[in-house]
Formats: sequence, structure tokens, C-alpha cells
Amino acid sequence: MPVETKTTCPYCGVGCGVIARVDDDGTVSVKGDPDHPANLGRLCSKGSALAETLDLDGRLLHPEIGGQKAGWNEALDLVAGRFADAIAAHGPESVAFYVSGQLLTEDYYVANKLMKGFIGSANIDTNSRLCMSSSVAGHRRAFGADTVPGTYEDIELADLVILTGSNLAWCHPVIYQRLAAAKAARPGMKVVVIDPRRTMTSDIADLHLAIRPDGDVALFNGLLAHLAKGTAVDENCVAAHTSGFADAFAAASAMTFPALVERTGLGASELRQFFGLFERTEKVVTCYSQGVNQSSSGSDKVNAIINCHLATGRIGRPGMGPFSLTGQPNAMGGREVGGLANMLAAHMTIESAADRDRVQRFWGSPAIATRPGLKAVDMFEAVADGRIKALWIMATNPVVSMPDADRVEAAIKACPFVVVSDVLKTTDTARHAHVLLPAAGWGEKDGTVTNSERRISRQRTFLDAAGEARADWWQLSQVARRMGFAGFDYASPADIFDEHARLSAFENDGSRDFDIGAHAGIAPAGYEAMEPFQWPQPAGHTKATTRFFAKGGFYHPDGRARFVAVVPAETDRTSAAYPFTLNTGRIRDQWHTMTRTGKSARLSAHIAEPFAEIHPRDALETGIGNAGLVEIESPRGKAIVRALVTERQARGNVFVPMHWNDQFAAKARIDALVPPLTDKVSGQPASKNVAVAVRPF
Ligand code: SF4
Repeated sequence: MPVETKTTCPYCGVGCGVIARVDDDGTVSVKGDPDHPANLGRLCSKGSALAETLDLDGRLLHPEIGGQKAGWNEALDLVAGRFADAIAAHGPESVAFYVSGQLLTEDYYVANKLMKGFIGSANIDTNSRLCMSSSVAGHRRAFGADTVPGTYEDIELADLVILTGSNLAWCHPVIYQRLAAAKAARPGMKVVVIDPRRTMTSDIADLHLAIRPDGDVALFNGLLAHLAKGTAVDENCVAAHTSGFADAFAAASAMTFPALVERTGLGASELRQFFGLFERTEKVVTCYSQGVNQSSSGSDKVNAIINCHLATGRIGRPGMGPFSLTGQPNAMGGREVGGLANMLAAHMTIESAADRDRVQRFWGSPAIATRPGLKAVDMFEAVADGRIKALWIMATNPVVSMPDADRVEAAIKACPFVVVSDVLKTTDTARHAHVLLPAAGWGEKDGTVTNSERRISRQRTFLDAAGEARADWWQLSQVARRMGFAGFDYASPADIFDEHARLSAFENDGSRDFDIGAHAGIAPAGYEAMEPFQWPQPAGHTKATTRFFAKGGFYHPDGRARFVAVVPAETDRTSAAYPFTLNTGRIRDQWHTMTRTGKSARLSAHIAEPFAEIHPRDALETGIGNAGLVEIESPRGKAIVRALVTERQARGNVFVPMHWNDQFAAKARIDALVPPLTDKVSGQPASKNVAVAVRPF
């Protein structure tokens, strides 16, 4: 008899429910789960092709030490011993974990507990640093906690949806489908897309603002100044629930209108049209994604957007609010357990002595990290200069995805001890590991993930593990026990989720936003049957909270939100030698470094090779022909890809997808060109504004 299992798509932060069916002959097929609130039965091209990516080709089937097959005991003993030796000789700051938004929450929880509570360092960071850490920083500055105020339904209920730094149609396709359906049903709904490129998303827009790279702070400051001069500011809301408006308004008003035109690259009439739309429309949702986050001013961009919603009181009510679109399937779950180097578990903070004490008492741990650890870019810099002696990389491929990727590769090669846990043995990163640990893949592992609207869903097992592959939480627990630490005797992910839920509720009087105490004490059967739900859901509540902040209730000690006075930074990085601005991003049918989606011929047929979008005039002036090979060079590295000459690209800009690595194309690791420049608050790399030279190859 065919068996159907309800699970969740492992790709993007939309978090679509999937029904996986296994037939008697072992054939797997997938369809959208009509009961899952995120997608209501829809799937995009990547989700629909999941069954085509489950073969064992390239899978890592057993542990390896130095490229040779090894047993689990031997490998785990070696990992525990080498980490313990490094800590004994050089202290806890000499080791690090670099993890991933692909991990399930239970994996993340154990990794964070081991590093922060038992090893006693906060040197655990994640590829989510590259994805949404500027949003986290912006939320914490404005709201006092990393809280997403709204829900996907708000995007459908809004009369004006602003998409800034988001190619929604390709990067969050099912939310795009929901938006397009809502707009078709209610043609009065307006969509504004703010993006230097004309993308598939801008094709639905009533107004496309082809903004200069990193012009967003100036734009939203200009909007705030405009709103404050009219009648759209909700003075009661500002007075009752916020602080800092005067300073934010003063900063926003400092730029003259002609300077705003110059800084944003937008026409005066376009600016007035946008400002007027926002001013007149009560139900506004502003969605932002990597075009906002991946910037040296990413946190300021997020706060410039939130400032406009706080000023108008358009937050936490149906169809209103700022909305961070998370890139990865479990970036949000990682945040909940403290998977970033500057966070503690359950949205508590490392800087707070009370939070540190609370978490340490709950864990009964011998230590607790007392200061933030190394964020991703700094972590690999510490690997490069020899401060990190032992590094464990889980479920991610930094040799392709990190900025300054060639230097990151050299650093990993030179590190005295590198462990890689992955499903594949052939990634660009795995080939430099001293120890390879086979991880259970999608369909084999079991746990929870949280999507962009705070909805926790189950990923469930429907396949036997490949070879000797084991879950990441199991690998981490085994190493912790071998290092002599108690508190890692979990029998199942249900045990870990229960502990996670209890910690979220521990001494939580409502002053912390993340609380899923209603799920504490959950039995394995209850965990197995868990339906998707939005947090928070404290003990005694049968219904989770849908929206935050309609009536204040922010998480700063005084209960007020903070306006953040932000000033646009000068971000034109071009020069005579490097006259173009490189922007990197996703395409519709590939995911990250293609280790999974690259297996599907159907997905690869959409766009078969890497490309550089360039404007026809720029192509003409540089002697580049359509489909000809071009060399793109920054001070950090070079790539060679095919030219795609298109008027969709703004002049002076080139766009290259981030996915390809040296296995799929000769020289297309575009992150090798991205410098390790980061946002000063969040530490997120600036992948959208890189000065490059472009020439025919
Ligand atoms: Fe998966 Fe995202 Fe597509 Fe949904 S929208 S099916 S979560 S890739």
C-alpha cells in the first residue's frame, strides 16, 4: 500500500507543506499539502521536483577519516578528542561551529547548547548570517526582540504591498502566487517593487522603482519625512507606544529632495507617486529580503522601513506591517534556539547576565558563553589567521557561499582540524575535511522548522537513512557525551523539542516574545501528530498569537518601540578600474550551491548555465555580445560566465546568480569576487554592491 507522509519543503523560508508518497516499489512522489496554512496545496518548481533529488548519487554513506572509510565510534572519538585537545591547549575560543539554516531546530538546539553552555564559547554561527541577520538586528533595535509582527495573510489583505530587495516571484514563489491571486481577485490592490533590476516580480508591479544599489535608507527616510509633513502620522500611537520619533524625523529630513533624487537614482515624479501611495493607503505591508539585508547598511535599511510603519501605526493589524522574508527553510528556527553567535537560546541575549544565568541554570551546564562569538565572516578570518584550531561545518558549503570564497577555501585547507557533516561527499567544502560525517537528508530526518511567518511545522521521515547516515543532533550529542558532558542523552527529536519548549517558557513572565510552553511536556505521539502552528503559544493557550504590536506591547523594558535615526551611507564603490556594480542573487529553479537542485534535469533546464545580466548600452560600450563569454573581476577574484544582454538590467550594473560552483561550471563561484565587507550592526556581508570590471573573455 502506498504510504503518504505530511512533511515540509526543505528549500525556502515560505515553509510549504508537502505530502510525500512512497509507493510499494519505493517510488517517491510529492504534492502540496492543501491543509498547510503556508501554501494551501501550492508548490513551486523546486518543491515539485523534490522527488527527483533523492537518489544516492554522490551521497556520503559512511564516516570517513582522511578520505578512508571509518566506523562511527572511531570518527566520533576522534572529533571529540581533537575538540577537547584544542580547548585544553588553547581555550574554548579556539574551536567553532559553522552551521546552517538547513538544520532542523532540534539539530540547531543541540549545537547551540554544546557550544554556548558546555564548551563555553559563542563561536557558533550560521549561513543564516548571510541571509537575514540584518533583519534580526533591525527587529531587536525597533521592537526589543526578534519578532516578525505579521503573517502571510496580511500580504493578501493589504491594499498596498511594497516589495523591496525581493524578487518574490523567483525566491519565495508560493508567496508570490498568493499575492498574484489576491491582486487578481482585488484589482484595486497596488504593488510597488523596489529593485535595481526589472525582474519577474516587477512584472506584476503597478510601480517599479529601479533604485540605485543601497539607496533604500535614503528612500525610506524620504518617505518618513514626507509622511511627517502630512496627516498620515498616527500621533496617538507614536506618543503612547514609541520613543525616538523626533530624532528619526530629524535624520530623515536632513536630505533635500534633489539630493534624494540623486541618491536613489529615481525620478521626482516616481518618488512623489510612491510617497503618495503610502500616505493614502492604510493597509500597507512592506516585504523585504536579501536586497535589504545583504548590505553594509542592511540593519539601517530595516529600521528605515520599520520607522515608516511605526510612524503611521501600520503594524500588527490585518493587512499592515513590515515583513521580513526569510531566505532559508529554518533560518527562523535557528534564531529561536540561539543559533547565531550573538544570541542565546529562546530569544534571550548573551549580554544579559540574568538571561545567561537563567539558561545556565536550566541546562545545568558547567559554563555559559559570556560574550558574543565570531560572526561568519570573522569566524573564517579567525580560521585563516590560525586562532581557530578545530572547526565543525554542518549542512552548508562555505567554499562556494561565503564572501571572499577563495580565501575561505584557503583558510579551511590550512585549519588543523576540520569536520564536515553533510549528505554529500563531493561538495567544494567536504573535500577539505579531515573527518566527514554522513548526515541524514530530507525525507530521512525528523524534526521541526519555522517559516517566515513564525509557523513551526514538522519535517517527517518517510525514507530509510542512506547507508550509515545519522541525524545531526545525534552526531552532536554523541560528541558531547564523548567530551564528558551530561545532558545530551536524547532518545529522539521529540525529547529535544520538549526541552526547547520548556526553556522557552522557563521563568518567562511574558517579557520574552518566544514562548511555546503549550508544547512543553509533549509526548512522542503528540510530537508525531503536531500540526503547524505560529509562535508564541504559551502554556494554557490553545491558539497561537497571529499578530504582534497592534496595541504596543513591545519588548524593550519600557514597552515602547524605538525609532532608529538612520543616515544614508555613501555606497558607490565603483572606480575607474572597477566601474560596474555587481549584484548577486537567486534564480527560480536552483537552491543555494545546487547540491540538491542540481540533480534535477528538469530544474536545470530552466537556466542551464551561469550568466551575467548586462544592459545593452553597457554591452555595446564594452564590446560584449549577447551569449558571449565575459570575465568579471573584483580585487578579490574572477569569474567567467555567459552574457545575457537585457534592458531589464540597469546601466552600470551586472547581476550574476550565486548558485554555480566549480563542479557545475568552469569558473562561476561568484562569491569569490565579493569582499568580506559587512553591516556594522549585524555582521551580514554586503553581497549586492560589489565594484567589478566586466570585459569580453
Ligand atoms: Fe519549497 Fe519555497 Fe517553493 Fe514552497 S515556495 S515549494 S517552500 S521552495
